[in-house]
Amino acid sequence: MAEMNGLMWFRKGLRVHDNPALSHAARSARLLYPVFVLDPRFLRPDPSAPSPGSARSGLNRIRFLLESLSDLDSSLRRLGSRLLVLKGDDPADVILKALKEWKIREICYEFDTEPYALAQDKRIKDFACTSGIKVFSPVSHTLFDPAEIIKKNGGKPPLTYQSFIKIAGQPQPPILQTFSCLPPVGNAGACEFLDVPSMEELGYGDVGQEGFSPFRGGESEALKRLKESLDDKKWVANFEKPKGDPSAFLKPATTVLSPYLKFGCLSSRYFYKCLQDVYADVKKHTSPPVSLVGQLLWREFFYTLAFGTPNFDQMKGNKICKQIPWSNNEELFVAWREGRTGYPWIDAIMIQLKKWGWMHHLARHSVACFLTRGDLFIHWEKGRDVFERLLIDHDWAINNGNWLWLSCSSFFYQYNRIYSPISFGKKYDPNGNYIRHFLPVLKDMPKEYIYEPWTAPMSIQVKANCIIGKDYPKPVINHDFEMKECRRRMGEAYALNRSAELPSEEDLNCLRR
Ligand code: FAD
Repeated sequence: MAEMNGLMWFRKGLRVHDNPALSHAARSARLLYPVFVLDPRFLRPDPSAPSPGSARSGLNRIRFLLESLSDLDSSLRRLGSRLLVLKGDDPADVILKALKEWKIREICYEFDTEPYALAQDKRIKDFACTSGIKVFSPVSHTLFDPAEIIKKNGGKPPLTYQSFIKIAGQPQPPILQTFSCLPPVGNAGACEFLDVPSMEELGYGDVGQEGFSPFRGGESEALKRLKESLDDKKWVANFEKPKGDPSAFLKPATTVLSPYLKFGCLSSRYFYKCLQDVYADVKKHTSPPVSLVGQLLWREFFYTLAFGTPNFDQMKGNKICKQIPWSNNEELFVAWREGRTGYPWIDAIMIQLKKWGWMHHLARHSVACFLTRGDLFIHWEKGRDVFERLLIDHDWAINNGNWLWLSCSSFFYQYNRIYSPISFGKKYDPNGNYIRHFLPVLKDMPKEYIYEPWTAPMSIQVKANCIIGKDYPKPVINHDFEMKECRRRMGEAYALNRSAELPSEEDLNCLRR
């Protein structure tokens, strides 16, 4: 018999379906406070940031979050409850105050593997432990419990995808029951309940719709999108990630479910189960690593590694990361970040990132390779920060894991295989429709020159209303030359990493130009 006051703390997991923490809280509380805390670390406007938004998040992701919160609030209201939005400088302080004020006897929240969340959880758990408050914190953001996998693997995370799959086994099934109602919300007391704020209320002025991502946040949208993807059973059965077209933007070649998985608007366990249902219905289907289930397992692989690797998000002190003497060229970095490298394929992808907050996986490959080991030889942490701020699906474990991969710092070591900023995109989109869409300044450039507009004769540039060096930049580097230089430098760095001891800062400095 439920007799106590409970608090359901939403962080990720912004959903009602397959939400073990919410299910538990609904069963055990007499009064239930469903809370989300606005965190200024991610939401406070920062006028000094390179583009509108906070220091850590661009407007697209902030808006996606607010839409997800509004949708969650609507779902909770349908169940006789509502979302209580709280604010304060530090979410853990806000929760501690609420625990005391509302005489909470049990707090429920989804387990989160990110170091920032773990630090907050420790404070909550320490207080709960000394105050006799129960804590229920299940793993439900991922298919597997990373700690379990690490334990099964003898205390270390598996370092390859194949070894991960061997160890992982079958994931937990999702909870399929739905709620008919939730316990009522108690009084606010001295904690003020807010509604989900608008962008204006967060201090972003009237941002309008222009340049915003076409992807709307929320559980309802996630489930709709999932259904649309899975209705096409043939597409699901034949899905092979490397064969997707990174330039397809009107109808992307993948599900675009990543932002929904990131915020937990969609349960990965439910997604996995739906995929298994489709597979059961078709005769033949693709398999990991290239299948859709394979994509979900990549997510698990990176989550497990990120959880079990100290300093996973940096080169220094990260045992699985090769130590490479990246160079520091602010001008080239800014050209990359702002989509002004003079290579239209690279620039169009970076503009899609700014405008939409999402790009196809192979497009991410192209720009990450270009920034690091392919052309500019700039530190992967700098590119990671740009993605972290601008992606709507930014995810600490996955983003860092993929940057380690693409820069040949970990997991993947064939640094001789470099994406061409010219021929790679051309293979998929010879007419350059993707470039024309995201870089309208090149929209009238004939297809012969669209990937290398600097080679167009002046008469053609005039006719296309695009003078290279004036309307669109000249290439900031010579790819053929820099690619060779990068290979040479990666070779030197790898030689240095071969000894038992990781190279020191001094060793790296000797290789810096
Ligand atoms: P689908 O192909 O439809 O895959 C379904 C789901 O599987 C995705 O939503 C995602 O959760 C997972 N998934 C797919 N590919 C990967 C992968 N390579 N690694 C881990 N999980 C994967 N993905 C993020 O979700 N957040 C990030 O911050 C992120 N940063 C990246 C940075 C770089 C440099 C690169 C190369 C890739 C990054 N990815 C990231 C991985 C991948 O590009 C995206 O997950 C994918 O493009 C999302 O589109 P989708 O949902 O249509 O994917």
